[in-house]
Amino acid sequence: MDYESVIGLEVHVQIKTDSKLFCSCPTVFGAPPNSNICPVCSGYPGCLPVLNRKAVESGVRTALALGCEVREESVFARKQYFYPDLPKNYQISQYEKPLAEGGELFVETAGRPEPLRVRILRVHLEEDAGKLIHPEGAGGAEGSLVDLNRTGIPLMEIVSEPDLRSSEDAQRYLEALKSSLEYLGVSGCDMEKGSLRCDANVSIRPAGSRTLGTKVELKNMNSFRGVRDAVDYEIARQTAAVESGGRIVQETRLWDAEKGESRPMRSKEEAHDYRYFPEPDLPPLAAPKEWVESLRAALPEMPRARRERFTRDYHLTGYDARVLTAQKELGDYYEAAWQLLRTVRGDGREKLLANWVTTELLGRLNAGKMELASSPVPAESMAGLVRLILDGTLSGKIAKTVFDEMWATGGEPAEIVQKKGLVQVLDEGRIREWAKEALARNRKAADEFRSGKERALGSLVGAVMKASGGKANPEIVNRILLEELGSGKTGG
Ligand SMILES: [Zn+2]
Repeated sequence: MDYESVIGLEVHVQIKTDSKLFCSCPTVFGAPPNSNICPVCSGYPGCLPVLNRKAVESGVRTALALGCEVREESVFARKQYFYPDLPKNYQISQYEKPLAEGGELFVETAGRPEPLRVRILRVHLEEDAGKLIHPEGAGGAEGSLVDLNRTGIPLMEIVSEPDLRSSEDAQRYLEALKSSLEYLGVSGCDMEKGSLRCDANVSIRPAGSRTLGTKVELKNMNSFRGVRDAVDYEIARQTAAVESGGRIVQETRLWDAEKGESRPMRSKEEAHDYRYFPEPDLPPLAAPKEWVESLRAALPEMPRARRERFTRDYHLTGYDARVLTAQKELGDYYEAAWQLLRTVRGDGREKLLANWVTTELLGRLNAGKMELASSPVPAESMAGLVRLILDGTLSGKIAKTVFDEMWATGGEPAEIVQKKGLVQVLDEGRIREWAKEALARNRKAADEFRSGKERALGSLVGAVMKASGGKANPEIVNRILLEELGSGKTGG
């Protein structure tokens, strides 16, 4: 039997703020353990939480960008459980009345002609818990250590409906969500630093069925790859269980990236009853309509709108537009370079620039695992290089040599061209001399071409290019060679 997998994601996003959600402790990452704490976030009795306005604003902006309905009044609730990283023995979260509900995110996937619409169930605010450190080996302390620096850092939880159908869908959704959050500037979105964390609910059902199967919750994935692998593993595990006549047990499983497998963490029977109740130390959170509308009006252009604008205004393919807009900075880079090129004449300027950015620049960045911010080639230099191609100074081939040099030295393209004497040769007289020489030296290839073997032209073009030190304009070389070959034919 064929099975369909049904996946929903719960994503915890650390909201970028200077101070914590309910106190003024700093949120910087990597501080010495227990240095960013105070009586409020350490859970001393009698301390009152004071809500961080910036965190609420970021939560509302995110909800609006995802098309959610923001509640005029939401309520904080205590989620109660005992764990050593939670000094109050409850986490302040939102439960029955979350910040916002009912949104959507459109996700481009490989297997569908149209973007997949993933419904967003809810967006709510909560505080983070602390961190347990388990020292290992000689010299390590016995037992575990508690670091409360992370306690009280603002989070938003974004819960999707189970609209994803494969591990690839899950990864693409997560990438699209991250891209949106980066455009909004509301989070660092660094999975390795834990500022973007993801749990997945996975079930399978016979293909075509409308009812949902028993779901298993996966935790502890800390990379895009991890999410994909964990979901694949779980789909295979459930399929094998059902096919061998077994049943799926509702449980929470912990992903082990090193072993590439998950193991049970707790079953439904042991599932926590959190005894939620409204937080008595905080009034209901008011989000007045006018305030929400002013935030909506100030939202930036989001990735999907920008992608559409790129295909429309720059005549780019869907693929180019997607690559260029996935990362806000890369889209900004492209547009900054384009501003410098828009007055230059030439066909296909937008596409030529897009090729240089997506192929050469991104290729180098990816190969070196580098961020765009540390690229030695700024947008102005990239525009300068493309301008030299457009005005005929450089052939595409020489431009690559110039780009190599720009990447290595951070130099300006025009200077490099001058210093290295890399200007393209457009002089037809010189090219014709090289062409005649090449024909004289490669009589066999010339004869082959004349007798109908068109492929022989390639080696002749290569000979001329070599004679010119790679600097002859390839189109002129082609044309002149054909002229010379033709005249040779009529002459002989
Ligand atoms: Zn504090």
